[in-house]
Amino acid sequence: MENKWLVGVDIGGTTIKMAFLSEDGEIIFKWEIDTDTSQNGKQIPSDIARSIDQKLDELNQSKSNLIGIGIGAPGPVNFATGAIEVAVNLGWKNFPLKEFLEKESGLPVVVDNDANLAALGEMWTGAGEGANDLIFVTLGTGVGGGVISNGRIVHGKNGAGGEVGHITSIIEGGARCNCGKNGCLETIASATGIVRLAIEELERVDATSQLRAYYEKHKTVTAKLVLDAAKEDDEIAKQVIGKVTLYLGLALANLANGLNPEKIVIGGGVSRAGDTLLTPIAEQFARFAFPKVLEAAELTIATLGNDAGVIGGAWLAKTKLS
Ligand SMILES: [Zn+2]
Repeated sequence: MENKWLVGVDIGGTTIKMAFLSEDGEIIFKWEIDTDTSQNGKQIPSDIARSIDQKLDELNQSKSNLIGIGIGAPGPVNFATGAIEVAVNLGWKNFPLKEFLEKESGLPVVVDNDANLAALGEMWTGAGEGANDLIFVTLGTGVGGGVISNGRIVHGKNGAGGEVGHITSIIEGGARCNCGKNGCLETIASATGIVRLAIEELERVDATSQLRAYYEKHKTVTAKLVLDAAKEDDEIAKQVIGKVTLYLGLALANLANGLNPEKIVIGGGVSRAGDTLLTPIAEQFARFAFPKVLEAAELTIATLGNDAGVIGGAWLAKTKLS
């Protein structure tokens, strides 16, 4: 009998990543289409369905060979209906993604949020391979996350499980977060948070710094510049990264103290800094983790990059639809 294929889809604000995968999690074919956010993103399900049909034609494959679609979107999911409650950058509000995509594609669909999908992808074939208990944190423009306990994503009562970015780090006087609270981990450990902390530090002290010349010329810095400078022992950059990794290590240790994970996987654009970030996080984690939790947990950088979402989507299709 012919091997069936899984479809993984990861919707972002500018592109939609799509892939056909084998039931072993191997990417057979992957591609991208533009995200059409005109008309409040209403066309997105039909764009996806049409693109799948087109790709099947090109590859000379029949739709009956597909098991179903696992899809992620950037926003909270209503798991009873497969609707996206709100996705600001797509224009969606209570958008019935599962219903619309099933109608357009004729395939069964399972929906989750994009960070949860990436967590499942890393668990299946990435840095978390083989770990049934895993914490995934993604450091990008914001801080996202996913918690997997006993092989299953923790959604919680109303879908807000795994929101690692909104762990409170600064109790008093923290910066305002997009969620409406103050002092969330996201305000410190996201690319945006790193830039804010660096500018505060540059304004606060006069120390010479390789960041300063750039800052004076451009009136801003980038998270990558700060991480690169920290790697080269720049004092201001080291201060900033010291603070970022302190709060990351603290939040991850406290989360781990409640979950006892086997792996903690750090992904997202900021994680490309590798050991510059991982080594100090691990030091802080060791300070704050309960001894048995520390013994069990391995901290590691994600390995799947932008493919994590489509691989996680395929995992969902495999486990929920086949
Ligand atoms: Zn928040």
